[in-house]
Amino acid sequence: MSSMNALDVYRKALRELSDRHTHELPRKLSEIEQEWDRALAAGGERNIVSGLQRMAHGFDAASSVLGLPQLAAPARRLAASLASLLACNEPLIPTNIQRIEALIAELRIAARTTAGWQGDPPGEHCRTEGSGTPDLPREVREATPPPVVPSAPNDTTPPRMLYVLEKDPHVATMLATQLAPFGYSIETRDTSEALVEALVGAAPYAVILDPDTPGVGLATARAIASPRGSISSRAPVIFVSDRSDIDARLESVRAGAVAYFPKPLRVTDLVDKLDALSQREFPEPYRVMIVDGEAARADLCRAVLHEVGMEVSLVLDPMQLVTMLGDFNPELLLIALKLPECGGDEIAQVVHQIPSYVSLPVVFLSEHWNLDRQIGLMNVGGDALLPLPLQASQLIATVIARVERYRTLSALMQHDSLTGLLNHSRLHQYVEIESLRALRQNHPLSFAMIDIDHFKSVNDQFGHPVGDRVLKNLARFLRQNLRKSDIVGRYGGEEFAVVLTDTDGPDALAVLAKLCSDFAMVEHDADGTRISVSFSAGVATMSAVPSARELVLAADRALYEAKRRGRNQAVLWGDQEPPKVLPALVSGT
Ligand code: GH3
Ligand code: MG
Ligand code: MG
Repeated sequence: MSSMNALDVYRKALRELSDRHTHELPRKLSEIEQEWDRALAAGGERNIVSGLQRMAHGFDAASSVLGLPQLAAPARRLAASLASLLACNEPLIPTNIQRIEALIAELRIAARTTAGWQGDPPGEHCRTEGSGTPDLPREVREATPPPVVPSAPNDTTPPRMLYVLEKDPHVATMLATQLAPFGYSIETRDTSEALVEALVGAAPYAVILDPDTPGVGLATARAIASPRGSISSRAPVIFVSDRSDIDARLESVRAGAVAYFPKPLRVTDLVDKLDALSQREFPEPYRVMIVDGEAARADLCRAVLHEVGMEVSLVLDPMQLVTMLGDFNPELLLIALKLPECGGDEIAQVVHQIPSYVSLPVVFLSEHWNLDRQIGLMNVGGDALLPLPLQASQLIATVIARVERYRTLSALMQHDSLTGLLNHSRLHQYVEIESLRALRQNHPLSFAMIDIDHFKSVNDQFGHPVGDRVLKNLARFLRQNLRKSDIVGRYGGEEFAVVLTDTDGPDALAVLAKLCSDFAMVEHDADGTRISVSFSAGVATMSAVPSARELVLAADRALYEAKRRGRNQAVLWGDQEPPKVLPALVSGT
């Protein structure tokens, strides 16, 4: 997602959060008042006063983080007054009582003005027991996060449904067979009535239609494609057409189509477009790690980020940070400058010394903000310094800007430019990380090497660009047909590799064998003709080898064996007759 879109989405979530806080004000205020009554009745019992102090402090923190300073200020005065009462061990004498009551009245007026309610606040009796620190607004703690940034489905995705309205049955059939290997299933309709009927209550992934289908016409197309159209499915609509003139394209834009493809259709282009739609549909939630010794503040921060759909991990003990980094794999570190055992800036330097985290963005939190300090922190790898008390809007905007940039840069650094898959070195890092994790958690892990069969002859016969297209198709095919948790990379040239997490050898072999036979059925455009290409795969599993390095070697040997047995198949390391040269090769490297 682009940073502007992301920012808008998060701003909206923040507004909703702030609205809910405002909505809850009457209840919160009556909780404070009831607690005060209880304190009075109990002659100022210390526990109750201290509970009340925490409530006021929480009210302050929540209001200030949500950008409501007019509420935060009186709550802060009340909290401070109660704190000094507790600190001096003063009894509840009339002057104290008057002071506290005046402050509560002040808070009540501020809440009234903010929320715009009159008379007695509703919801007098909905008090629940105070849960101690941190005093987060309850809605921040308990609300189910709104589906602002939906996460992508975790496991193998079910096929995505496409509705197709196409006058040429050959094209419809071609689409159905050619799109299936990429995870799309097709429902064809031949009239606009049938399409409209199918669209009622259905939620297809996308609609593909030829506006020149008899009886459809541009008006119908527009009614379906435009988000405000009378029969809009709200699914993106792609036009395919015999025309390729500018008028036809303009009409499609005006009708609200997201893409326009002239015939003859290039299925790979269509798949590219369809895949891109999914990225719009499921932006990955940002992963933020907070390092802060102060639990209350860290919790509040987490609640705000979590509420707007980000994944957050909390590290209260900085000494645990390095171990937790690998498990959570954050895209940004939010570090308090003042930590219990060391400085936040020192922690940042430690993290940046680890090769995989050299470029991880770091944002510091500090009560003391000034330009000199900000510049000083840049020198130790800080990207920004946020002043405390934290403003949610500033926090969110900063996180989005840094993570978006980080994503762009890492994508460029870690991915192969032709296929978009992880590159060789990044893939190796993943093999290391995942094999250590598998050992630690005692989970199975497998690795597969894939090599296209007789690829040289594809290049020789049809040219390099066609070869490139086949490589892109295989990349897409692998990504589409493996689980999201599996890691796919381009090992080099026409070789690919996959890390299959939580998968033992036999299961990995079954997966690769199926991929093998499915891919061999995919047809690739080769300048007018269609060709099929196969691949061979070697599979190895962690339980059969001593280290990540041996895992890769073993898969490579199994691949060699698959080639030897005639290609277009998968072989599991250990299942084959070991070639005679093997022991020498393994021990010699
Ligand atoms: P085998 O079944 O034994 O794997 O035969 P093969 O022809 O696939 O293997 P070989 O190693 O002889 O040839 C690999 C070919 O892959 C040669 C090289 O030109 C081609 N190749 C490598 N990288 C690219 C690329 O990025 N684009 C294209 N089009 N071809 C590539
Ligand atoms: Mg090769
Ligand atoms: Mg090859």
